[in-house]
Amino acid sequence: MKPHILLIEDESSLVELLRYNLEKEGYRVTAANDGEEGLAMLNEQKPDLLVLDWMLPHVSGIEICRQIRRKSGLRDLPVIMLTARGEEADRVRGLEVGADDYVTKPFSPSELIARIRAVMRRARPTAADEVLTYGGIVMDLASHRVLRNGRHIHLGPTEFRLMRFFLERPGRVFTREQLLDGVWGRDLYVEPRTVDVHIRRLRKAINGDGERDLIRTVRSAGYALDDQPDGNG
Ligand code: CA
Repeated sequence: MKPHILLIEDESSLVELLRYNLEKEGYRVTAANDGEEGLAMLNEQKPDLLVLDWMLPHVSGIEICRQIRRKSGLRDLPVIMLTARGEEADRVRGLEVGADDYVTKPFSPSELIARIRAVMRRARPTAADEVLTYGGIVMDLASHRVLRNGRHIHLGPTEFRLMRFFLERPGRVFTREQLLDGVWGRDLYVEPRTVDVHIRRLRKAINGDGERDLIRTVRSAGYALDDQPDGNG
């Protein structure tokens, strides 16, 4: 079956350009030209990936992203945001509300397609019948379930990959660049700051009230999954 991409974008010439190029690459494309219609379509049928414009009439892309991450059925939907803003602070804000990646306008269809492929690759569940455990965390790779001390944890696609990377190598310290290579892949340029954003989201998801922070920040080095308080690797 063809992977289904929903575009929420109010610029109809851009929608047609992307539709043409995505269909040529074997995707099925549906489109909404404002936020309200987009949300209605999302509730009707969950696509495999959402390409979401930041600036939309009625309901903004940021607000849509926020709503998606709050809904149990849509929480794990991969989202790529389109932004006309070059400000890094805005792009980081997009990631903070739950986008998996962003592309800054103007961009070429092939650039967006490369991003779509990468995000889908990260989101695709593995067939491996394997369970990873460490420090009270249990990750079932087949069902994509994550528990901490028996409590269900909801992770976005990127946080899942990041957690998996750590669980496969507990206690080891990784630099942002190593995490980018291991989790995002070498084929795309992603700013090192992106790692910090996803680490923040991962921490928020896994650390409940009164629970120890399992992610250790190593000043000027990077991050480690570590269940030892003040551990040194
Ligand atoms: Ca727009």
